[in-house]
Amino acid sequence: MFTLSEDQQALVEAARAAAEAELASTVKADDEAELFRKDLFHKLGAAGLCGVQTAERWGGLGLGYVEYALVIEEIAKVAPAYAVSVAVSGLPQVILAKFGDDAQRERWMPGLAAGELLGAFALSEPGSGSDAGSLRTTATRDGDTYRLNGTKFWITHGGYADIYVVMARTGGPGPKGISAFLVAGDTPGLSFGKKEEKMGLRASPTVEMILEDAIVPASNRLGPEGNGFSVAMSALDSGRITIAATALGISQSAMDCAGRYAVTRKQFDQAIIDFQGVGFMLADMAVRIEQARLVTHKAAWLKDQDLPFNHVAAMAKCAATDCAMAVTTDAVQVLGGYGYTREYPLERLMRDAKVMQIVEGTNQVQRVVIARHLKRGWE
Ligand SMILES: Cc1cc2nc3c(=O)[nH]c(=O)nc-3n(C[C@H](O)[C@H](O)[C@H](O)COP(=O)(O)OP(=O)(O)OC[C@H]3O[C@@H](n4cnc5c(N)ncnc54)[C@H](O)[C@@H]3O)c2cc1C
Repeated sequence: MFTLSEDQQALVEAARAAAEAELASTVKADDEAELFRKDLFHKLGAAGLCGVQTAERWGGLGLGYVEYALVIEEIAKVAPAYAVSVAVSGLPQVILAKFGDDAQRERWMPGLAAGELLGAFALSEPGSGSDAGSLRTTATRDGDTYRLNGTKFWITHGGYADIYVVMARTGGPGPKGISAFLVAGDTPGLSFGKKEEKMGLRASPTVEMILEDAIVPASNRLGPEGNGFSVAMSALDSGRITIAATALGISQSAMDCAGRYAVTRKQFDQAIIDFQGVGFMLADMAVRIEQARLVTHKAAWLKDQDLPFNHVAAMAKCAATDCAMAVTTDAVQVLGGYGYTREYPLERLMRDAKVMQIVEGTNQVQRVVIARHLKRGWE
């Protein structure tokens, strides 16, 4: 996909306009105050940006992952924390579409797709991050209900979300003993602990989630018992495309800021972009972003065609997030001392970029996925 259709271009422009209108004026202050504003998320929903990939029947725009990635990139150019919000709230929608039943979809999808409800995804625990299959939260069957007990860690939107997809153990050890549940935000027994004080993405709340005899109807289970690990991995495969798109927005925004500065800043009587050392840094940024965008759009396109895409999504996640870290670091360099101040957005973008290499499977884990895929082809 080398050019956008007219409809895609119109969607990009609408997303850009909504992000600028709703998010630009508060992004700096909210980063400093570590403030998430749910009302801003609702506004993105009102602009039609929270259910791009969800079927029209369930209240979404009924478009594909290519369009979803385009929208996320535009939001990330302005406010990466809210691009992550849209992506994370998209995970329950993706899960409901693939693993939910009609009653579950009717209850939750229209609100999530409209951005009236906020979604979250609860897999990680204090002792299980990359090794998610070893999670310890339990779900014990009790008649028509399950009783959930355990602690989840790092939950984006913890305490703010209306609906959480929670992975818990219903069987023996390992991935096959895990099931997935829809847990409403007002479930008795569900509470929230420590909010993490983070390096970046500070407007996105990352919170400990505590389940103490939280009673969940058995009808809230997503698919059969023992299917929860597949639910989680399937969602993360798709989620990696949205993290890559977020990283692209960060990269593009950082490069544009550095480029605009480099054409106006003069030293030794010339614009600094005309020093080869600076011009080449900008050229390398453009090369990396172009490469990362192509592989991200390819992963999205493969998913839209129902073709195998998970190894390409892993490549996109590595390429785009490593790109964002490199581009933001060099963008700070282009501005010299000014790049290091909070007067410019680059230090914030650099802090935001770092976490993209960690979430939804670290980039080391992505390389494990890619290497396994390559090995299968060579065996
Ligand atoms: C801001 C933020 C938001 C998050 N939001 C959510 C959320 O909403 N829901 C949720 O469930 N989780 C969330 N997470 C958790 C995130 O998915 C985990 O942090 C991530 O999966 C890594 O797990 P870990 O932090 O326990 O690191 P570990 O798994 O302990 O990894 C530590 C280091 O070891 C490396 N490593 C581990 N295993 C391997 C391996 N097999 N091969 C090579 N290297 C390896 C890792 O790459 C890393 O460098 C969030 C995290 C952050 C920071």
